[in-house]
Amino acid sequence: MIVKHCKLCTTGNLFASCKGCGIPVCKNCCRMELDGFGCVSAWPVYYCLNCAAKRFSNPDVLLRPPPK
Ligand SMILES: [Zn+2]
Ligand SMILES: [Zn+2]
Repeated sequence: MIVKHCKLCTTGNLFASCKGCGIPVCKNCCRMELDGFGCVSAWPVYYCLNCAAKRFSNPDVLLRPPPK
């Protein structure tokens, strides 16, 4: 199935894929952040609003393995 529109608002044109969950999102529904290691190398990545909210409430969620 080919998704042509943003998965969140379902009307916006695709702009990027969320790095967290992989869904396609439009400009209005994504947040750009700088990813990378230290301050030497960083590059822009995009998160959907859901993942952005999770990330901000628990910033190190991506750095730790999930608890078992
Ligand atoms: Zn959207
Ligand atoms: Zn996401």
